[in-house]
Amino acid sequence: MDAINNDSHSFARLGQSIITHLNWDARIDFNKKKIFATATYQIKKLPNAKIIVLDTKNLNIRSVVNGNNETLPFELLEPQHFLGQALKIQLSSNTKLISITYETNKSAEALQWLSPQQTADKTFPFLFTQSQAILARSWIPIQDSPGIRFTYDAKVEVPKNLIALMSANNPTKKNDSGIYNFKMEQPIPAYLLALSAGDLVYKPISDRSGVYAEPSVLDDALYEFEDLEKMISTAESLYGEYKWGKYDLLVLPPSFPFGGMENPKLTFATPTILAGDKSLTSLVAHELAHSWSGNLVTNATWDDFWLNEGFTVYFEYRIMEALYGREYSEMLASLSMNGLKEELESLPAEDTRLKLNLKGRNPDDGMTSIAYDKGYFFLRSLEEKFGREKFDLFLKTYFSQNAYQSITTEKFIEILNKQLIEEYQIDLPKDFLNEWIYTHGLPNDSPTPSPEKFKTVDKAILQLLKNMTASQMKDEFKTDQWSTHEWIQFVSELPNQLDSVQLRSLDEVFGFTKSQNSEIFSVWAKVSIQNNYQPCYPYIESFLIKTGRRKFLMPLYTALIQTEEGKKWAKEVYKKARPNYHYVASSSIDELLE
Ligand SMILES: [Zn+2]
Repeated sequence: MDAINNDSHSFARLGQSIITHLNWDARIDFNKKKIFATATYQIKKLPNAKIIVLDTKNLNIRSVVNGNNETLPFELLEPQHFLGQALKIQLSSNTKLISITYETNKSAEALQWLSPQQTADKTFPFLFTQSQAILARSWIPIQDSPGIRFTYDAKVEVPKNLIALMSANNPTKKNDSGIYNFKMEQPIPAYLLALSAGDLVYKPISDRSGVYAEPSVLDDALYEFEDLEKMISTAESLYGEYKWGKYDLLVLPPSFPFGGMENPKLTFATPTILAGDKSLTSLVAHELAHSWSGNLVTNATWDDFWLNEGFTVYFEYRIMEALYGREYSEMLASLSMNGLKEELESLPAEDTRLKLNLKGRNPDDGMTSIAYDKGYFFLRSLEEKFGREKFDLFLKTYFSQNAYQSITTEKFIEILNKQLIEEYQIDLPKDFLNEWIYTHGLPNDSPTPSPEKFKTVDKAILQLLKNMTASQMKDEFKTDQWSTHEWIQFVSELPNQLDSVQLRSLDEVFGFTKSQNSEIFSVWAKVSIQNNYQPCYPYIESFLIKTGRRKFLMPLYTALIQTEEGKKWAKEVYKKARPNYHYVASSSIDELLE
């Protein structure tokens, strides 16, 4: 119960009773933009528990009954900033089942309702959820703590021309009834509850993996994710069996706020990784890796978020290394280090510790490159200290021994001490763990990736600044053969101030403004904003309107608001773009543009 008691982002700890299984019976109403549902829970009650407490946010609760259909008294407590409301239900001595009938509100923050215009095929409406970190409570009354796990099944009714999908066993074809049944037999925390409904088609890649996408997107997606089965078997050969049965990808419309969301059995993915050359598929390796780090072994609270993300970035790079070589994964690691250094400069010191203290704050504040990249470099430094063989064995054992458990940072340190540090008797520098986990900033002896290809890129930049022209650079450095990652390195390492002649000639020779690669375009857009390079602005505008991925939006809006003129322009664009953004993106940008 420790983990639950320490989760400041859930009211459930008040409860002394926990849910063990959810049965969800729902109808999706696109006209009203509401979900009408009955949620029935099996509960485990401590002997003297008289209540159960669930998290809710903006839900209209119609009734609460027990297994005999007898009304149970309930109370919705005062709303608390971003946490929503505790739903306190009185239990009788023999209550084992409770059933809540409710509907969602138009402002349900997890849900994004898209008009046909906002989809790729522009014919049918679309709905998707994003529950992480604490938004599951805005569409299902639930104990919304990563420390509480439950199994679920569901029956979902959607308009007849659409198909519904969940983080569960999924249908692969539309049916005539519009009613779909789901089952998730492994216990998951609430943030992994997911639902999507739209005009979607499916094609398998292997007997356990495949892709769902809108009809016009499917072929591109299949090409991009061709190596999916190879990724799964590579992951298994590193850290043990894939435990969730199927692994499918759902390519969402561009307003999806994240790169990907590791909903079990069905990763939700942004279409911005469809670059046409498989160059951005490390994101899929990342979401897949969450099937171990995160979905199997879960951070107990959002203060321990690095346990989900640091492990996953480490695992992601190991998959990419096994598939495409060390140089490839070193480029990824080096880009991570660049991002981390930038973020370290802008974050308050206390937010640069791995173990966070987010009490009283929105847990989304912890979604920074600290959890991801500092977490990665900590694990990598352990790998380098103990050697890969020992560290891999430790990780494999960690995933299998702690499967379906939620882990605090302190519990992890205990396991690390016992199963790695004491086991192999290797002397670590004094204060090693404390410096990485509880101290701000980056330890001095952090690993520093230095891929050969980036050294060449950095040389090219130096030459360019010594008056080499862009076309000379193209010939001299054979840039025709550069990969996406070399281009990202190149553009993001350009000096902040460039003259307009230089910018124009770079753009003419390398075509950055018209790049179809979202990662390259977004770093170029930032350079363009910093230098007020006007030819790029119309492209920035349409990119900001079309794309809802927070990772791209935040740096661009942040760059824009550095000047008065830029801020004015940003606000105008945002007016047009905001309807296309999910709550987790728009809430961040609302704050930024205030
Ligand atoms: Zn992740």
